[in-house]
Parts: sequence; structure tokens; C-alpha cells
Amino acid sequence: EAITVQELANRMAEKAADLVKSLFKMGMVVTLNHTIDQDTAELLVEEFGHNIQRVSESDVDIDTTVDVDADETLKNRPPVVAIMGHVDHGKTSLLDALRGTDVVRGEAGGITQHIGAYQIKTKGGDLVTFLDTPGHEAFTEMRMRGANVTDIVILVVAGDDGLMPQTIEAINHTKAAGVPMIVAITKSDKPEFNPQKIRERLLEHEIIVEQMSGDVQDVEVSAKTGAGLQDLIDKILLQAELMELKSNPDRAAEATVIEAKLDKGKGPLATVLINRGTLKVGDIFVVGTQSGRVRAMLDDKGRQVKQAPPSLPVEVLGLGGVPMAGDTLTVVESEARAREVAAFRQEQATTKRTTSAPASLENMFSALAAKQSVIEYPILVKADVQGSVEAIVNALNRLSNDEIKLKVLASGVGAITESDVNLAAASGAPIVGFNVRPNAKAREIIERFKVRMKYFDVIYHLTDDVAKEMAGVWGPER
Ligand code: GDP
Repeated sequence: EAITVQELANRMAEKAADLVKSLFKMGMVVTLNHTIDQDTAELLVEEFGHNIQRVSESDVDIDTTVDVDADETLKNRPPVVAIMGHVDHGKTSLLDALRGTDVVRGEAGGITQHIGAYQIKTKGGDLVTFLDTPGHEAFTEMRMRGANVTDIVILVVAGDDGLMPQTIEAINHTKAAGVPMIVAITKSDKPEFNPQKIRERLLEHEIIVEQMSGDVQDVEVSAKTGAGLQDLIDKILLQAELMELKSNPDRAAEATVIEAKLDKGKGPLATVLINRGTLKVGDIFVVGTQSGRVRAMLDDKGRQVKQAPPSLPVEVLGLGGVPMAGDTLTVVESEARAREVAAFRQEQATTKRTTSAPASLENMFSALAAKQSVIEYPILVKADVQGSVEAIVNALNRLSNDEIKLKVLASGVGAITESDVNLAAASGAPIVGFNVRPNAKAREIIERFKVRMKYFDVIYHLTDDVAKEMAGVWGPER
């Protein structure tokens, strides 16, 4: 933790000038706003005869967990929808077609801005927000950073093709995130369109669509002719209604960064999605390790907006630097407070980079234990042949008991891939490999994400090991 001379003086109730003098005697020439490191700060504290008391994170940083909105302040908010599926199955085309159904866009005649998300007003007057970055990488990366902005996932499957590797990845990611799914079988205008085949193949992944008497909504669409688009929108609205999506619009805003960049003319820009509250021009905020003041906001139609309510995506101008996707923007009461929190986080980020320990399963389990009585133990399984995958998954499922439920997030044949590692990192799950190893791309990121991985060539060694781990992890907690 680093601290400015002025802040340290305030905390010790000493004159800042006296601290500067002491530092000078120690050979350091500093001003009041100079940041000094922890060791130097401790030396000073001792020199002035005070006790060293380290502040905890929550003393300085913003703790939103204590800041819960009362039920009566909650109002309905539009759903936030992400589109996932295999490359070339029509995600971009569908996003464009859905954008085209916006009843406001025609009137305003504004220029479409690509800001990473857009909102449409439906014929019935309801609003829907779409994340305009197709693909599950964005979704997973946000989730890894703890940001869950997506309420509903549309799984796009081309009806003239089948379930492809990225379709299955998208299914796994969506399931792991616990986000409800609507299946859109696209390209219905094509002569080869065969939606029934898709529905049947989805059964293998435990997705039973309505047409197969299940409860996952499905719809046939064509981005080319527009057929089925209204049906899809109706299903999104129905799903949203079931979910009772609400937040408090009348408070200081909190938003999630979905895209950020440095613009040559406008400086650092971030597209944010408002989670709760209303963001206003002039608001002072912290976003990740940056602070700033809202100078202007633009919507996806390129129009200036003075206020942004929940679920509206807006591009924010007035940041001190470029934040990261997944960062939370929080409005604070003063510039001093914004700078203090940003500086604190910057310091934390530097120390974390050098000292961070792998996120331990122990931590994860105690966190989970606090929340629910049955703990889920997530795991990913990769093996060399389908027969082994099935045998391992069956054996692992038998390890579940009343306290710990083993949940195989994904299983499959072949080397451990980048996507497996991403899913494991986002879910805090280990990966077990049976006669397989990670491929080169996966190896590159394993270290970065601190994903735990074990390899076996005898099935009962694998199950024994997992059983021990489950017991061991749970054991000391009781
Ligand atoms: P993405 O990679 O999933 O974003 O897929 P794209 O939206 O880029 O679509 C891939 C290809 O399929 C393009 O050549 C599109 O023109 C075509 N395509 C997408 N949707 C439809 C559709 O509904 N009907 C037809 N006939 N072609 C489509």
C-alpha cells in the first residue's frame, strides 16, 4: 500500500510539513502529494511515536456489498442479451437485423456508433439491450473478471449446419454462468434448413427446447428475410419478465465497462452498461484504477445523452485513463475520494502482480460454504477417447454426497484447449486430463489464469485423487 505524505500526516494527526522535514533528513526530497512506499511510511510512523496500523482494503476502497438497495426502490430494467455461437453461423447478421427492428432509430436518423452494445425499442415500447460483441471470449473474459452483465444468452445455430465446436463451448459457458438461454436456429430461408436436426442434437447436451417439450425457448429466424425476428424479441421479453429484472434507478450510478479504448481526438473512452442508478453528465467516478468526471455521454445512435438509466449502454468521455473491460464504474461524492480510491487500487494492482497466490480451492469453498449448504465442486474432464470420458464422468458423478455435489462443467475428447482453460478459470474449476495434455495455446494461458490441472492414465487414480481433494478441502472447514 502506498500513501501520499499528506494522507499519512492526516492519519497520524501530524503536520504534513513535519513529515516532509523528517523525510528530508532521511534523504528524500518530497512534496505533500508525493507517494511514499509502505516501508518508508512505517519508518515515519515509528519516528513520530505512533503505532503502525495497516488499513484494510475496505477502509479505503468502495465496498458495494454493504450498499444494497431496498426492495421498494427497485424498478424494472431492460434485459441485457448476448449472442453466442459458432463462427459463420450468423451472429453478426442477427445482431444487425435486430438493430434494424429498433423503432427509434428510424425517427432519430442518427449515425450508428459501434460502442460494444446497443439498445432497441420494440414495437410494444419495451427496451432490450444487446451486447454487440459476438463470441464467447468477451463473455468469458468479463466473467473471469467477476462481471456478470448478461441476463440472457441467445445461442445461434445455423439450421443448415449443425452443432459445431464453438456452439458446444457456448453451451458450456452459458451453463457454467447459470444464464438462461434462448436457441435461435438461423438461416431459415435456406433450402437446406433443417431445424429438427438441431433440436435433436441439442438433446445430447441436455438442452431440451420447447418444440421437444422442454423449457428452453427456441425460435427459427432468418437475418436475411427478417422472418422470426419479432418472435425472437417476444421470447426475449417473456424470458425477461420471468426473471423480474430490477434495479434502483434513483441513486449514484454503478456501471460495468464493456469496451474501452484510447481515441486520438477524444482521449480515453469507455462504453459502460449501467447496472443501477443513473449516470449523469458531471458525475465524478472511479473506474478500475482510473478516476474521472463525466464530460459527455453518447448512445449507440451517436446522440448526446445527459442521463443514463439502468441497462443503457453509453460511451463515457472524461476518463483519466483507459480502464479494462469488466471494470466497475462507481460514482463517488468528491474528486478527492475518487483519486484516493484510484491510487489505492493502482498500488494494490502493482503489489498483487508480484505477490498474488493462486486462487485456492480452499478459499473458493469457504466462500461457497457461506452461501449455500450444498457445495458444488466444479470440474472439467478431457480424455483421449469417448469411452474413457463416459467412464470418468460416471465415476466422478458417484462421488457426490449430501454436502458436496460434483459438477462436471464440460467433458470431451482431445487435448486441453484454450477454451477449456478459459472456462476453468471463469468457474474456478480444476481440469483433469486422462491420457491427454494441454495444447500449445492452452499452455500459454494456464500460468496466467492459475488454472489447476492434473493428468492421469488410470481411471481409479483420477477418481481417488478427486475424492481426496473433495474431502480434504471440506475437512478442515468443519
Ligand atoms: P458470424 O460469424 O456468426 O457473425 O456470422 P455472420 O453473421 O458473419 O454470417 C456468416 C454468413 O452467413 C454470411 O455470409 C451471412 O451473409 C450468412 N448469413 C447469416 N445469416 C443468414 C441468414 O439468415 N440467411 C442466409 N441465407 N444467410 C445468412
